[in-house]
Amino acid sequence: MMNLTILQQNMASQLPDVELRMEEPLEKHTSFRIGGPAEIMAFPKNRRELQKLYQVCASLACKPRLLGAGTNVLAPDAGVRGVVVCLKDCLDGVELLDETHIRCMAGVTMARAAVFAAGQGLSGMEFAHGIPGTVGGGVYMNAGAYGGEICDICTEVEAMEPDGTCFTLDRTKAGFSYRHSVFQQRDWVILSAVFALEPRSELEIRARMQELLRRRKSSQPLDLPSAGSAFKRPVEGYAAALIDQAGLRGFTVGGAGVSQKHTGFVVNLGDATAADVRQVLRQVSDRVYTSSGIRLEPEVRIWSEEGAL
Ligand SMILES: Cc1cc2nc3c(=O)[nH]c(=O)nc-3n(C[C@H](O)[C@H](O)[C@H](O)COP(=O)(O)OP(=O)(O)OC[C@H]3O[C@@H](n4cnc5c(N)ncnc54)[C@H](O)[C@@H]3O)c2cc1C
Repeated sequence: MMNLTILQQNMASQLPDVELRMEEPLEKHTSFRIGGPAEIMAFPKNRRELQKLYQVCASLACKPRLLGAGTNVLAPDAGVRGVVVCLKDCLDGVELLDETHIRCMAGVTMARAAVFAAGQGLSGMEFAHGIPGTVGGGVYMNAGAYGGEICDICTEVEAMEPDGTCFTLDRTKAGFSYRHSVFQQRDWVILSAVFALEPRSELEIRARMQELLRRRKSSQPLDLPSAGSAFKRPVEGYAAALIDQAGLRGFTVGGAGVSQKHTGFVVNLGDATAADVRQVLRQVSDRVYTSSGIRLEPEVRIWSEEGAL
């Protein structure tokens, strides 16, 4: 395991253009507003810097972790060892490829990609408009809502190996299933994705996006920090309904609790720790299992402290 000071010195000298922050609080970068410090947090500004950063990390036997918008990550209270790479302001840009296809860089928000598509009179991304993450995070999670999923529209993904080699993956190789993709089993960085859409009137598309946003606002606790739905939808039903039936609406541990407004959400009520959230997730899963025989699995990515030094 490499000494942190040596890693830090090597990175700073080999990557003079990349902003590096030491002991950067992850609570500043996650929608849960939870998480201790990342030993080193890197903020590459473009693809070239990202590639170089990965090559330097590989040469130092360091495996970075990736953060998009941080809207589906529970970061540990003690922080994370090694390097966390923030992609949100790095891989930028959306382009029209032909009449029905757009390419979105991984750091673009889903909202921006959906608005771009709407502006081109292309339908298919309306479901993604209200999902508060990046395209990279959306592909990684195969994010979905209101009957749509990334895998419905994604035709190819461009990605990078940890040594900086870039490649393109056809959708059939992306291993998409419910809230799952092959990227969850690899150390690849998603760089961009191509989406296949359908021509439709911009007015109709925008109306649909507004309607879905209205539904979100009326049903979800958007005034409190969270990571969206805490649990995956079980085959047998809906997590929120099962949690409600188990009498867990408003159930709390420390500063974390099941939302009063939407029982599928675990929210930070003000001073929640990651340990509080993990306890809520565990107890809710156990109590739902006792009452229904159905085991709920977390959807949120729970990071461990062990980094990649
Ligand atoms: C209020 C709220 C509502 C939500 N509603 C929905 C919803 O309707 N549907 C839904 O599916 N989700 C929803 N979510 C969850 C979340 O927004 C999605 O999972 C989103 O796709 C995560 O994107 P992100 O950029 O924030 O990823 P992050 O949270 O930053 O990362 C998630 C995982 O993806 C990995 N990752 C991120 N970018 C890359 C990349 N470029 N390459 C490789 N790995 C990467 C990270 O390492 C991490 O493991 C909601 C969250 C909130 C807070």
